[in-house]
Amino acid sequence: TRLYDVCDYYDAESLLTRDERAVLGRLRSFLDEKARPLLADHWERGEFPAELAQPLIALDLMEPAELTGAPDGDRIPARGIYQGFRIFELARTDASLATWYTSQAGLFRTAIRVGASAEQQQEWMPKVIDFSLKGVFSLTEPESGSDIAGGLSTTARREGDTWILDGAKRWIGGAVSADVLAVFARDVADGQVKAFLVDRQAEGVTLEKILHKTALRMMQNAHITLNGVRVQESMRLHNVNSFRDVAAMLRAMRSDVAWIATGIQAGAFEAALRYVTERRQFGRPLGSFQLVQEKLARMLGNVTSSLSLVVRLTEQQAKGIYRDQDSALAKMQVCLQMRETVALAREVVGGNGITLETDVARFHADAEAVYSYEGTHEINALIVGRALTGESAFTR
Ligand code: FAD
Repeated sequence: TRLYDVCDYYDAESLLTRDERAVLGRLRSFLDEKARPLLADHWERGEFPAELAQPLIALDLMEPAELTGAPDGDRIPARGIYQGFRIFELARTDASLATWYTSQAGLFRTAIRVGASAEQQQEWMPKVIDFSLKGVFSLTEPESGSDIAGGLSTTARREGDTWILDGAKRWIGGAVSADVLAVFARDVADGQVKAFLVDRQAEGVTLEKILHKTALRMMQNAHITLNGVRVQESMRLHNVNSFRDVAAMLRAMRSDVAWIATGIQAGAFEAALRYVTERRQFGRPLGSFQLVQEKLARMLGNVTSSLSLVVRLTEQQAKGIYRDQDSALAKMQVCLQMRETVALAREVVGGNGITLETDVARFHADAEAVYSYEGTHEINALIVGRALTGESAFTR
């Protein structure tokens, strides 16, 4: 039997092994039974359902693709495509759950994989994978978002074997419950961007939860102030020597967001399809009207083309091909389709499309955060434009 019989028209799931599908099936059951009933209430309250974290980790979801050359015990080696479907399955249920997962399994893991030396990786990576070292990616600043490469103004000053960090970070997902913050700062000596693992509890670190969000309300974001924070040289990520190394991380992580945006579409489309099958007007199901069927076809077309695109991108990345423009194009294009899909889903559900009861409203609201994070539409378009023309339109 197919896992994605409704939203995966061209059978991308056939690329998965039977074992991989079995884990995804267990994830599906857990999400349906334990997570779904909590979503609307936690979204409304702006709280993450903390009780889901440990059971999700226990489902062996955290094992990242690159580290699993050989199966370890009963574990299934995590191939890129399987990793993508794990993100897809989570996002199909809820965008905050998927973001929570990729914050550790994507952002933080990538910071360590790309940024840490071999010895540092040996020490930290097992803890990243089993979630015993929870970390977050602290790049964006209050005054610099899209412009972070040139505008990054948090400073790092070296005194012997200690670094002193000063500055502020904004929007950092999951920081309030993390053990460490991967903080990017500019070395005052050589002007280059370096990275540090900062204990969240360290003296001089202040975290403020960002309130009044209208998207991804379940996932917490923090405003972080760093005031004379002392970090040992051993906690510096030794392979980060300039912003180029940060760009390499972003390049690898953007495909995760494209998978999230694809999963959101699948979730919204399936919820809308259920609704139009059940709801009747003019004595007939909504789904029997031509204008409604046209919207269903467009939603399915978007999901199908997004899924085809992320599958192909992931196959390329599995071969070691990581070009800026490839993941930028995917993030941009899939997010455009996501915005249309959630809007169409919201339309066919009518008034109930603005309550949390049908799931559609949550996907519709959350999509806006995904549209903006990890490179806005414009910035990803400019990365593609630079590759096409050889002209950079956004340098300072
Ligand atoms: P701005 O850079 O101020 O941009 C505003 C608008 O101007 C956008 O439409 C943008 O595209 C446009 N614009 C900017 N420059 C140009 C240009 N040259 N040409 C054309 N248009 C332009 N950051 C982290 O480091 N870690 C995280 O964990 C994290 N999580 C996040 C979670 C959420 C929910 C959100 C909303 C953000 C998160 N971010 C995180 C930050 C995110 O990456 C930034 O919001 C994003 O990079 C955009 O920056 P900005 O919001 O400052 O917008």
